[in-house]
Amino acid sequence: MARRASRQRRALSLFGREMLSTFTIEPPDVNWRQVQKRSCHLNIVTPVRTWRVPIWICCDRPNDPFLLLIGGQHGDEYQGCGILLEFLQTQWGRLHGNVIVIPEVNPPALEAGTRTSPLDGGNLNRAFPGRTGGTITEAIAHFISTEILPLVDFVVDIHSGGGALEVPPSVMTHYLPIAETFRETLSAMRATELPVSIVVDEGHKDGMLDTLVESQGKPFLCVEMGGGHLQARDIRLGLRMVENLIARRNPEMVAQHVADRPSVAPLLLEVPGPGHYVRASAGGLFFPAVAAGDTIRRGQTIGRLYPRDPTPGDSAVSITAPLDGVVYVVRVSVRVEPGDDLIIVAAPAHAALAGMWGT
Ligand SMILES: [Zn+2]
Repeated sequence: MARRASRQRRALSLFGREMLSTFTIEPPDVNWRQVQKRSCHLNIVTPVRTWRVPIWICCDRPNDPFLLLIGGQHGDEYQGCGILLEFLQTQWGRLHGNVIVIPEVNPPALEAGTRTSPLDGGNLNRAFPGRTGGTITEAIAHFISTEILPLVDFVVDIHSGGGALEVPPSVMTHYLPIAETFRETLSAMRATELPVSIVVDEGHKDGMLDTLVESQGKPFLCVEMGGGHLQARDIRLGLRMVENLIARRNPEMVAQHVADRPSVAPLLLEVPGPGHYVRASAGGLFFPAVAAGDTIRRGQTIGRLYPRDPTPGDSAVSITAPLDGVVYVVRVSVRVEPGDDLIIVAAPAHAALAGMWGT
């Protein structure tokens, strides 16, 4: 954590806010609506350097909508970049269908290894729909919102727990008001063959790409592929997920399945409200007693919170599970602020939801 903070400060001193106020956006010179298979760049030109956002486009049918695959919104979550770059490296030649791939959508944050941009402090996944005349982070969001989203009818956004959280490899959606979109989303989640599918009520969703896409009535999958370290498992599961989702839309693209089919039946879970979130009541050090994916019982100790400035006689607070369930998210960055999520407990999905998912 300390190393990342010092990197962020160095980047800010290098670029300076006066420099960042004078940047220009150069969108790719591409006609999206023609048969093609090529890469291009969105360029963000500042007085000191140009940031390039690489974009791959495969278009077989100019009148059809695209599937959008996106990674690297948060700069400490490299799983999306790893999966999509590996997919492009190994599968680009045989790819069919209408697909846009943006594996490194937030280069300043990815280069710094920080969740937010070192240039302006912006959190890209809280900046949608973005705007012109704002920050670089807002400009990236604006480009995606205005140039890319009108072309697409399905979005897959790959994240992970980053440096702070551990999450099992999973695909997440929200409770959607349009039944047809919700059903299509759940069906696609099942098709990913990821070990866990989960439906979540997140509460605060302002500025998220999820929120924007869902407000347009389009299916959106948020993939959470593990924690802070990129594992071989993440790439394997991610490649199979991407192949499955493309093959589902494009029969010409027969999935080769780079990994064996799952030996354990996938789980459908849900987080239907705030009662499933365990948050820090005070700042301090949190030591979890459970891991992501563990089954837990109500009242079970799931961690201990030590006060920040303990004096002799102060004791740690035991944190207990508020209900039976499965640990969906656990904080592993140790130092916490009041209100931080410590654990998110998921419950098995209710029967109607499971039916829509495909069991
Ligand atoms: Zn993220």
